[in-house]
Order: sequence, then C-alpha cells, then structure tokens
Amino acid sequence: MDFKVAIIGRPNVGKSTLFNRLVGKRLALVDDQPGVTRDRREGTAKLYDLTFTVIDTAGLEEAFDNSLEARMRVQTEQAVDEADLAFLVVDSRAGITPLDEHFAQWLRKSPTPVFVLANKCEGRQGDSGFMDAYRLGLGEPVPISAEHGLGMTDLYDFVDEQMKRQQEERAAVQGMLAEDAATDGEETDEEEIDNRPLQLAIVGRPNVGKSTLINRLIGEDRLLTGPEAGITRDSIGVEWTYKDRAIKLFDTAGIRKRARVQSKVEKLSVADSLRAVKFAQVVVLVLDAEAALEKQDLTIARLVEEEGRALVIAVNKWDACRNRDEVIQDLRDRLERSLPQLTGVPVATISALRGQNLNNMLDRVLDAYKVWNKRVSTSALNRWLEAVTSAHPPPAPGGRRIRLKYMTQAKTRPPTFAIFCTKADDLPLSYGRYLENTLRADFDLYGTPIRLNFKKGD
Ligand code: GDP
Ligand code: GDP
Repeated sequence: MDFKVAIIGRPNVGKSTLFNRLVGKRLALVDDQPGVTRDRREGTAKLYDLTFTVIDTAGLEEAFDNSLEARMRVQTEQAVDEADLAFLVVDSRAGITPLDEHFAQWLRKSPTPVFVLANKCEGRQGDSGFMDAYRLGLGEPVPISAEHGLGMTDLYDFVDEQMKRQQEERAAVQGMLAEDAATDGEETDEEEIDNRPLQLAIVGRPNVGKSTLINRLIGEDRLLTGPEAGITRDSIGVEWTYKDRAIKLFDTAGIRKRARVQSKVEKLSVADSLRAVKFAQVVVLVLDAEAALEKQDLTIARLVEEEGRALVIAVNKWDACRNRDEVIQDLRDRLERSLPQLTGVPVATISALRGQNLNNMLDRVLDAYKVWNKRVSTSALNRWLEAVTSAHPPPAPGGRRIRLKYMTQAKTRPPTFAIFCTKADDLPLSYGRYLENTLRADFDLYGTPIRLNFKKGD
C-alpha cells in the first residue's frame, strides 16, 4: 500500500497543472477551457526525496448545471476515501466561489487530512483571494503557484509529515500482528465448531454506538459490573448465550475506555479494531446511519476482509435516520465500488439505543458464521467449474488457452479453494474476479471473504 494524495477542487483552479508538476510527465490535459480534464488520473509523484501516488480528480465536461455539485461530489468522495491526504486547490485570482465553499463544508467532515492550496499566487494578483481562503475553515491556506513551482517546500512538509505518521501507525499494527501470530493456535477441527463459543467482535469508529450496543446485548451495565447470572467474563471478553449458541464478545469497549486516556484516540481505534478482528470469527462493523462508510469504516472493513473473518454490517441509529432508502442505497453503492470483495455482505439496520432489531442482527451473525465454515463438495465444485468455464472461457495468451482443470476446497474459515490450471501465472485478475463472483453467488457465500488459489497443474 503506498501513500496517496488526492488533488481536488472545482474546474480550472490548476489541479492538472499541479498534477503535472508533481508527476513530471504530461499525463493530464491542461487547457484554458473549464473542465477539459476528463478522466481521473493517477501518477507517481516525486517531490525532492519523496515518492507517492497522486490522484487528479476528473474535471467536469459540462458547465455549471444542476447536477454539477452532485457529480463533483461523487468523484471527489471516492478519491478522498482512497487518499491518505487531500489537497483542496482554490484559485486565488478568481477568489473563493460558492462551489469552493460547498466543497470545503463537505471536506471538513472527512477524516482524511485536507490542506488548502491557494494557487496562482505568483505576483500580487492573488493576494486578496489568498486571504479569502481562510474562510474555508480548513486551516491555514498555503500560497502556491503550480505553474511556476512556488510553494513546493510547504507541500513537501505536509506530505512528509503525513507519511511519517502513517509509517508509525503501520509499525504499531505490525508489532501487534507479530504478537498475535505468536499466540495464534493450530487449525481448529470442524467438530469443535459447535462446542466452542462463537468469537464475536464489535468494531467501528468512535461514537457510532458500540458501547451502547454491547450494553444492550449483554444487559445494561453488566459489562462494567462484572460476572452475573448467565454472563461470564475474563481478560478477553464476555460470554453469553443466544439461541443455544455460546457467543464470546471481545470487549472492545473496555479497551476503548483505556485508549481514551491516551492522546491519539483516532490512531488507536484502528489498532484496537485490528486486535478485535484478529480475535474474532465474526465481526460486526457498526456504522452511523447519518455518516455511513467513511474512510475509517472502509479501512476496518478492508481489514476484516484481509484477515479472512466473516462480516456483518450494522447500520446503527436507525431510529434517528430520516432518509432510510437513500442511506441503504448509498451504502450498497459505496460498498460495491470500494470493496467489491464484500459484495452481498449482510446488513442489519438497528437502534442500539432502543434495542431494536438486535435479534435480527444476531441471526445474521449466526448465518455469517455458518457460511464462514461452509464446505462445498469436490464433485459440486468440479461440475460448477466445468459450467462456468464453458460459459465464459479463460483467455488464451499467446494462442494457447489456459485450462482450469480441477478444483477443490482446501479449507474453511474462510472458504478457501484451490484451482489447478495450466499457466496459472498468466490468468488475468479479471478472470479470477469473475470466478469469485460467480462462486459466491452460486454457493451463497455471502458475508465471508473467499480465497481462490490458482495452482500449476499440467
Ligand atoms: P484544473 O481544471 O483545475 O485541472 O485546472 P488546469 O490545471 O487545467 O489549469 C487551469 C488554468 O489555470 C490553465 O490555463 C493553467 O495554465 C492556469 N494555471 C494553473 N496554475 C497556475 C498558476 O500557478 N498561475 C497562473 N497564473 N495560472 C495557472
Ligand atoms: P461508541 O463510541 O461507538 O462506543 O459510541 P457510544 O455507544 O458511546 O454512543 C455514542 C453516542 O451515540 C451516544 O450519545 C449514544 O447515546 C448515541 N447512540 C448510540 N446508539 C444510538 C441509536 O441507536 N440511536 C441514537 N439516536 N443514538 C444512539
């Protein structure tokens, strides 16, 4: 994973000029017409000794119309979601426009750090516009001239600082992984599945309602007051029974309370989540209906996928949500776009505060756990392989068609499949995705990551 910087702003402020300056190659078009940059571009930027990825957000072909704002938002949202740092470029000669303000208002809520670059600041013409940029409420603007290469050392400082912070964070996470790997046990026998408690983690950004949910699930205040009838707790978590199944809940809330003492709460919350995810078999990712799937939510969801845990999404504060259809649709769209590996993940809309729909959420947890443990017979898999490869044959690089010969499920938790094929290394990713999507749909493998390993077998 490399460091990504998104360059955003309304048309004609100089985004492409800045992109070109950083990337060095003339990849993006630059023109006086507003919005000639059609596609989103990515390039490798070099700024003194730093190397990172820059995303130039798409321009807008048509002039200002009703949907300008909407389209701009979608493009920017996605770029900012992906980025580790965003530069909001404004034109200090033209001054701050309502569109800049609108943008800024939205960006103020984004967890991605944003810096305002007041471009076209060479000479005096930019002075008033530069002062104006303070109004955006995104901190001190930085005067630059993309065209003349002025202000690049300030950019360097921002990127350098954020990259260092990210490295620190990653090192902390790595340390934790190493620690956990040392204590990771051997594979569990499938017979044991029904005897051992299902390990559940409830994770999410601060304030989405995790503590409220946990208290609801195991009974008000019991979490704090210790063992009571039907509930046991140890250093890891709390255990209770739902529909005859023992569920052991990783005590993230407790950890979070401890984290509060530390200063960098935000930083710890991802590390906390990682620890909880490592512990868990099924993870409930709690989202706030009013602000569902922000950057940090996606980071955690990605973590769950990478760690191979089953996932259920709980959209909380549903009681307070006005535009419900829109929220759900938006959530599905964003998941589809940002995390296609999690297609069809179960979503429960809940109110932790009122205790609404929590059983439905737990039912989904039990289902996800089953799917995570699912085993598909080798004969069914090979019939399936035959059908899907004839419906959509693999490519033939260099004139010789890749042949997928045999398939078997290597393990469960999460379902992992081995496919033996000729020229395994030449199989395009897109074909792998096709197989994965079809496999998921045909065998109902929703709510769990699945792994396909292509092996050489002539
Ligand atoms: P974008 O639509 O935001 O990508 O903007 P462009 O990069 O296409 O730039 C729009 C116009 O502003 C072009 O005519 C650029 O030459 C001009 N421009 C870009 N940066 C500067 C600058 O630092 N100073 C001045 N004076 N003009 C600039
Ligand atoms: P945590 O930081 O994720 O543990 O979040 P908390 O459980 O501390 O909740 C944060 C805030 O959201 C509190 O003010 C809760 O009362 C509120 N909250 C939690 N769940 C709900 C809910 O279902 N509906 C509403 N309206 N508010 C909720």
